[in-house]
Amino acid sequence: MEPQAKWPQKWQFFPIFLRLRGRRVLVVGGGEVAARKLRLLAKTEAQLEVVARELNEELSQARHEGVLSHVALEFEAAQLDGCLLVIAATDDPALNRRVAAAADARSIAVNVVDDPAPSSFVTPSIIDRNPLLIAIATGGQAPVLGRRLREKIETMLPAAYGRLAGFMGARRARVQQVVAQADRRGLWESFLDGPGAEAVLSGAEVAADAELQRLLDGDAPRGEVYLVGAGPGDPDLLTFRALRLMQQCDVVLYDALLPQAILDLVRRDAQRIYVGKRRARHTLAQEQINAELVRLAREGKRVLRLKGGDPFVFGRGGEEIQELAAAGVAFQVVPGITAANGCAAYAGIPLTHRDYAQACVFVTGHQRQDGTLALHWDALARPGQTVVIYMGLNTLPHLCAQLIEHGLPSDWPAAVIEQGTSPAQRVVVSTLAGLAAAVDEQQIAGPSLVIVGEVVRLRDQLQWFGRG
Ligand code: SAH
Repeated sequence: MEPQAKWPQKWQFFPIFLRLRGRRVLVVGGGEVAARKLRLLAKTEAQLEVVARELNEELSQARHEGVLSHVALEFEAAQLDGCLLVIAATDDPALNRRVAAAADARSIAVNVVDDPAPSSFVTPSIIDRNPLLIAIATGGQAPVLGRRLREKIETMLPAAYGRLAGFMGARRARVQQVVAQADRRGLWESFLDGPGAEAVLSGAEVAADAELQRLLDGDAPRGEVYLVGAGPGDPDLLTFRALRLMQQCDVVLYDALLPQAILDLVRRDAQRIYVGKRRARHTLAQEQINAELVRLAREGKRVLRLKGGDPFVFGRGGEEIQELAAAGVAFQVVPGITAANGCAAYAGIPLTHRDYAQACVFVTGHQRQDGTLALHWDALARPGQTVVIYMGLNTLPHLCAQLIEHGLPSDWPAAVIEQGTSPAQRVVVSTLAGLAAAVDEQQIAGPSLVIVGEVVRLRDQLQWFGRG
């Protein structure tokens, strides 16, 4: 075996971030390629100068607005004097190389667009969370790979990370005054791990400052509850924020309907508490759940209350946080894709449609303790409207009969979607008169959503997921 060389390969480029305020940057070229670079450079405070026979519409407009100046029609080497950077972006390769040679002769950094060989610098793919910037370069070897990587990182980093960086930057001097250097890193790490950073990300800077103060005073971090909607079942339908909070909680309280694939995404060492509420088999009464949330948060825990769909749609999420608010516990609410949206999309049934439905109502088919359904049938049994019924499987025959009795035709389209958005999704399409029997025949028994209205007809054309 060959002994390994100590420095097997030299870097072709050295990554740095340049302060361009007030510095001259020359771009040669006035077309789309030049415009792409100028759009980026315009994010800095550089003095932008363009040499081009002609400026395209966008660049003319930018010149008009004072974003850049058009300094000459033809390139001359003397234009480079005093520039920090130059970019050659014309469609004439010979001219681009001439620009590069002239810049090199003056030791001015030059980039020839899409031509790494004569370039002394390349522009990276950028993830912009200003003041936080992430730059990715492939040494001009594989820009498409760089872009792909950028997309991945984009999805991992909350949009508000720039705000977080700014928040920390603005308080750095104060922390430096109060905290000895050896402890500073630990303090900022506690801040990032605790509710403070989350508060900044959700725009609550006053709460974040209070949390930072607690840490400066040496107090324990404050507990918090995240009321998070996990969507209808497909883990891909989680929001970025849901996933982030799932991965940083200390304890999770979860419901019956959540699929294992979603629970698997919760931080591995978080304590798991099942509080599932299947009909007639309540594991924990609602009051106990509320009290448990308050107790855990008061212990300083980051408590994830994970709910199927959206927490504010038939999820009793409102009641849970009323209790938290009354107890003075900090919380935040993360919306999820509700079953109506998830099932509609995955069943190919638009909830509204210009020709069929100008309104859409969500109702619960869950019966009250006396066995009745308190629904405004007159308001539901209307053409031009889609009715979505949650928890309606057990009362389905009654629901359909009432809608017919209150004026909808017995052949009005209706569908039941069982375990929507999951690989096990089943869809039964029928009429109001036939739906209950069809559902019986198919032995539909899992969590199911009922959709009533003419939009159901569109499924024939729009069905795309599974075989239904
Ligand atoms: N907060 C939830 C609803 C909770 S009520 C949400 O926003 O979706 C529970 C009812 O939601 C179930 O009885 C069923 O009617 C419906 N539901 C939830 N997930 C479903 C799914 N994947 N497919 C069909 N219906 C679903």
